Amino acid sequence: MKIICIGSNYKNHIKELNWRISDEPLLFLKPESAVLRNNVFFLPDFSNDVQYEIELVIRICRLGKHIQPQFTHRYFDAIGLGVDITARDIQAKCKKEGLPWEISKAFDGSAVLSDFIPLSELDDLKQIKFELRKNDEIVQEGDSSDMIFDFAEIISYVSQFMTLKIGDLIFTGTPAGVGKMTSGDVYRAYLEGREMINFKVK
Ligand code: ZN
Repeated sequence: MKIICIGSNYKNHIKELNWRISDEPLLFLKPESAVLRNNVFFLPDFSNDVQYEIELVIRICRLGKHIQPQFTHRYFDAIGLGVDITARDIQAKCKKEGLPWEISKAFDGSAVLSDFIPLSELDDLKQIKFELRKNDEIVQEGDSSDMIFDFAEIISYVSQFMTLKIGDLIFTGTPAGVGKMTSGDVYRAYLEGREMINFKVK
């Protein structure tokens, strides 16, 4: 299983980080070892600015390569939520030096995942609402209608470069509101009002 992540996919988030909108999706990977295995995330000691990014995650259900946008709906069967945990200080350093940023994004525990909801239980993929609460306060709110590249464009783009396999996951980018995580924080994430994620920070 591989985890593909799309960066810079919501205008309001690009603005808060002072980045620019690109013509094509920006992608990076997290290894399977990045998946948080219990509900406790331990802040790594190599960073002083570890941040949360709530994202819609799609699950691939069919082997595919060079998938045309009009056929992409056959290649994913469920949607969940994920938190793309990012060492923002390390990422900024990598970006400044023009280096790959995996050390800021792919470390152990950096992919928090929910269970998945079958597509048949969702009314409209173009308007999926989700939110992240930090200690019961809403810090991020998203809607799939605000994505720059939609699910079809993402799957089609990614599959030009790498074969998608059953069970692969795609994080589809975060809306505005990212922020620093502190020891003692509790995060809960909701998709269409359903609680999907609940974890603590130590
Ligand atoms: Zn992200």
